[in-house]
Amino acid sequence: MMLNENKIIEKLKTPFEHTNGIYGIGDDAAVIPINDKESLVISKDLLVEDNHFRVKYYTPLQLARKVVNVNLSDIAAMAAEPYLIMLGLAIPRDFDSKWLNEFLKDFTKECKINNLKLIGGDTTRSEEKLFISITVFGRASSKNLKFRNNAKVDDLICVAGNIGYAHIGLISLEQKIETISKFRKYSCSPKALIKEAIWLSKNMGISSMMDISDGLYIDLSKLCKASGVGAKIKLDQIEMKQDFLKACKTISLDVSECLLTGGEDYSLLFTVAPEKFNYTVLNFKNTFGYDLKTIGRIIQNNKIIIEKSGIEVPYSYNSFDHFGKKYDT
Ligand code: ADP
Ligand code: MG
Repeated sequence: MMLNENKIIEKLKTPFEHTNGIYGIGDDAAVIPINDKESLVISKDLLVEDNHFRVKYYTPLQLARKVVNVNLSDIAAMAAEPYLIMLGLAIPRDFDSKWLNEFLKDFTKECKINNLKLIGGDTTRSEEKLFISITVFGRASSKNLKFRNNAKVDDLICVAGNIGYAHIGLISLEQKIETISKFRKYSCSPKALIKEAIWLSKNMGISSMMDISDGLYIDLSKLCKASGVGAKIKLDQIEMKQDFLKACKTISLDVSECLLTGGEDYSLLFTVAPEKFNYTVLNFKNTFGYDLKTIGRIIQNNKIIIEKSGIEVPYSYNSFDHFGKKYDT
């Protein structure tokens, strides 16, 4: 049987040991110290047509934004600033050349908006699908870097950004449901939360951070595993807007399922020490004009507990996996 994503990564990670402060596989991006104070932060992503995106849902500008921001989100998750970018393209032989021209123009624009300089890449043909692979380099003050592996028992778990919005947007596109079409932009044009991440990294109370690409439950599980802790998610505590609740109702989507499994929002998941929590929440709102979401608390045993109306509920959903169920071992 085919190996799943985690097992493939584990097999690749094990043989390699790093020295000189280099941090390799296991976080949102790799970290390479460049001097006493600064580090280079590097992340790579591969987006495959009809697995990660359908060209017909996107304008060239939206797809350009998506591919840049999906990658920048991993750079943000480490609390680094955008620096350099490389672009790999595999283009189907019969691909619409007007669309491609627009995409290249918009990609350039999007890089410039985000202070990214293109330094190289690779271009080739593919039989059928469009493949877009991006490597982004960021720069960070080494002392402000945030990793997944430092969450502490009793820390509060928070999210900056939306949860479940991109999932609703994707359903709207896939099932052609116009009444919830305003959510499509969250799926097609996510925005990496670079400013928020840098701001959070300067707050001494933030112990760990990552971005949410695969869904809250899966990504929080990764953060907990890396930190050797568990978490209690309090579903009732998560603040939700009326239009989100209404959209879930319209498509008969369980709100809890949407919150726990909805992927691709590229929000920031982080943990904060209890004594810094109020300060962080208040000042975040004052700085960015929107509220952080409180998800729950870090606990000692290595489990993720979900609590709803004060009662423990099992996690019984199929989580999002790019490799799909048929490859699971
Ligand atoms: P994210 O969802 O934040 O992009 P991933 O789950 O894709 O992170 O990757 C987790 C870690 O595994 C990262 O450090 C990434 O660089 C590494 N990784 C993923 N795929 C491979 C691969 N094919 N070879 C080496 N490292 C990989
Ligand atoms: Mg990530």
